Amino acid sequence: MQNLNTLSQSSLQDYHDCPRRFELRYVQRLAYPALETEPAIENEKHQQEGEYFHRLVQQHLIGIPAEQVGKLANSANLQRWWENYINAKDLTGFKNLSGLYSEITLSAPLGKFRLVAKYDLIAVDENKAVIYDWKTYRKRPKTEWLSIRWQTRVYRALLARAGEHLNNGNGFAPEQIEMIYWFSDFPNDPARFIYNADQYNRDWSALEKIADEITTASAGSTLLAGFPKTDEVSKCGYCPYRSYCNRGVRAGDAIDAELETEAEELFDINFEQIGEIAF
Ligand code: SF4
Repeated sequence: MQNLNTLSQSSLQDYHDCPRRFELRYVQRLAYPALETEPAIENEKHQQEGEYFHRLVQQHLIGIPAEQVGKLANSANLQRWWENYINAKDLTGFKNLSGLYSEITLSAPLGKFRLVAKYDLIAVDENKAVIYDWKTYRKRPKTEWLSIRWQTRVYRALLARAGEHLNNGNGFAPEQIEMIYWFSDFPNDPARFIYNADQYNRDWSALEKIADEITTASAGSTLLAGFPKTDEVSKCGYCPYRSYCNRGVRAGDAIDAELETEAEELFDINFEQIGEIAF
């Protein structure tokens, strides 16, 4: 078993969905043994296009002219997403903001771990910090579903906890933070989440509790029986570790899987770029 030092929204979501999946993916770091969904190739292509779209937006945000970046949108999906991004009413406020931090990583201590999150964009002005997350989903998820995802909770809580250096050393009150998911195929229907101190306190307490639970489970405590398999067998349909668990061989639907299994690779995070608060 390898050392586990960091937690992210993806690993916490996996732990929430199925502790066993968390163990296989983040503790044992097993490569995916099964194709995640059918049709796997099409799904993988969509995922790659999604990653490429993130890069295009980042290039634009660091100052490369839109016309130049737009020429790199070399597939039907990318062209449509790029057009939607450039024309999106909700995004035009950027030019009025003094601080744009794209592809920025924040981290803070959490129990025995570091909590790490990589943000697509944090836009800061005098009174407010808006977190933007670009989603290339083929289906617009329900706002209620997004509101309870660990990404929504972790991204806002971590910015409140570790965002001082983005605000002249003052930090952001939870009330100054908003998170927006912008959907490249549903450009006029973003999901917005404001924040407040009660939510922040609730989120951070929940994070501390989970971090303690994972520490105990990693130590092999019989109290928590380590990392049990989920009771919700429906979650196994799109899980890449099915073959380890005797939970069937037929893969689930690609579009549902896209929502449920989105896993940003923690190992891609460049730790030199992390803005962190001291231990
Ligand atoms: S197949 Fe099911 S039980 Fe096994 S890791 Fe995946 S979600 Fe968990």
